[in-house]
Amino acid sequence: MRKNLLIKLSFFSFALLLFPLNGLTVDKATALLIEEEIQKHKDEIVKIRRFLHMNPELSNREYETAKVVASKLVSLGLEVKTGVAKTGVVALLRGSQQGFTVGIRGDMDALPIQELTDVPFKSLNPGVMHACGHDIHTSIALGTAIVLTALKDKIKGNIKFIFQPAEEGAPPGEEGGASLMIKEGVLEEPSVGAIFGLHVWPENLGEVLFSPGPIMASSDWFQIVIKGKSSHGARPHEGVDSIALASNIVVSLQSVISRSIDPTDPAVLTIGKIEGGTRSNIIAEKVLLEGTVRTLSEGNREKIPQLIENIVKGITHSFGADFTFSYRKGPPPVYNHPELAKIMLPTLLNVLENENVKELNPQMVAEDFSYYCQKIPGFFFFLGAKNPAQETMAPLHSPYFNPDERSISLGIKIMCNLLLDCLERQSHLEDYPP
Ligand SMILES: [Zn+2]
Ligand SMILES: [Zn+2]
Repeated sequence: MRKNLLIKLSFFSFALLLFPLNGLTVDKATALLIEEEIQKHKDEIVKIRRFLHMNPELSNREYETAKVVASKLVSLGLEVKTGVAKTGVVALLRGSQQGFTVGIRGDMDALPIQELTDVPFKSLNPGVMHACGHDIHTSIALGTAIVLTALKDKIKGNIKFIFQPAEEGAPPGEEGGASLMIKEGVLEEPSVGAIFGLHVWPENLGEVLFSPGPIMASSDWFQIVIKGKSSHGARPHEGVDSIALASNIVVSLQSVISRSIDPTDPAVLTIGKIEGGTRSNIIAEKVLLEGTVRTLSEGNREKIPQLIENIVKGITHSFGADFTFSYRKGPPPVYNHPELAKIMLPTLLNVLENENVKELNPQMVAEDFSYYCQKIPGFFFFLGAKNPAQETMAPLHSPYFNPDERSISLGIKIMCNLLLDCLERQSHLEDYPP
């Protein structure tokens, strides 16, 4: 861990050495304009955020959210496309000077959670809540569009605003999210050269947490069905006990991570669901297990399904049982392109106090922003949203999740600076394919 930290710290200072702030970040006048525009519009943006919070919508059902977003973007005079990947909205801001195109992505969907906070702008939609902060993300992307439209003549190139549905996953049987946005051409016409995203995080307001390379894990789903043979609970020798086998499998699967995976390349295997049996005195015929696999590298991701299947096969066949095994890949790891990170880090250090830009170890949670990072250089960071006056903050996906709204203005400021600086430094980027 310590070695890791040192590598990252030296990366930070190396980046500064290579790219001293002077001349590489927006000039003072532009920085001031950004600040002024944020102050001018901040109440309006908070109002939009509260409306979104009160009217949360589930994945692929973001109809009203998309309307709010699209009407604001149209009022700014941007080129707006709706109905992308079902409810997605994409807007293009053309700068006054020619250049390449950078993208910013905000996700729009909420979760099936009953809100338990006592904020005055609590969800009006029973059982649905913005418990992952996507209302904040949408507001930040929208605020960035408002501010940068006012700064159009400072923009060397284009900015594509990508409002994405279904980050939390499309409903069963539906496509959705980042992968569908890409399929429907969001990174084309004009083609996007680099993309930026963020997630609110339960750390102090004012802090940004960041890591070059992998920052979040892949997330895959699997299901195992063990097929034994039912018999009387007192005559186990006449049956094949699928519950005894399932217990054995749950324990043995942990050895995939502890014995077969390089300990310096983290992976997680969790069984989150187990179902089987009918009553206490019957040997269970069938048991169903479901779980998730998280990895930071493609190597581990490729290897683990076969390791799981080997164990399940060995144990079930040894006792005369049968099994089925299904494995479904979800989003890949979120990967911060090292060269893009290197040229954008001075911007973070310029906008924030240096000590507020913190490195962090990659997190084993997932984000479908990773699909964009597979196609083009991506830059993703965590934005602190805990009120520093409070000791703790309810985690993401909690019914008590309540991010500090001041994170919106800071998020807009960071995004405006990153996008403008990225367009300035595009010549560096052209040398680095994704
Ligand atoms: Zn979430
Ligand atoms: Zn989220």
